[in-house]
Amino acid sequence: MSKPSSTEEEYFAREDAEKKKRLALEEAKKLEQAEKERLKNLHYMRCPKCGMQLQEVLYRDIYVDKCFSCGYVGFDNGELDKLTGDDTSIVQSVVKFFKS
Ligand SMILES: [Zn+2]
Repeated sequence: MSKPSSTEEEYFAREDAEKKKRLALEEAKKLEQAEKERLKNLHYMRCPKCGMQLQEVLYRDIYVDKCFSCGYVGFDNGELDKLTGDDTSIVQSVVKFFKS
């Protein structure tokens, strides 16, 4: 078996590097996914301000996430729109309601 030419060697070295790069990227992607999952499990329904468990409170047919520890109030995506519609005065009443 003859020794491969330098261009052949370069080709295989490049192929090998590409393959390793692909594997590294796949590995990074997997880690990123695992990290996202870990953070979700850690933070799900936790107050972003103080870290205590959030409670779902029903207010005018929408669910509001409330922290009874620090008073934080959060809305899921779209819930606030459902509540306000075109009437912005209702926002004030919500603020008043949850201020206590
Ligand atoms: Zn809180």
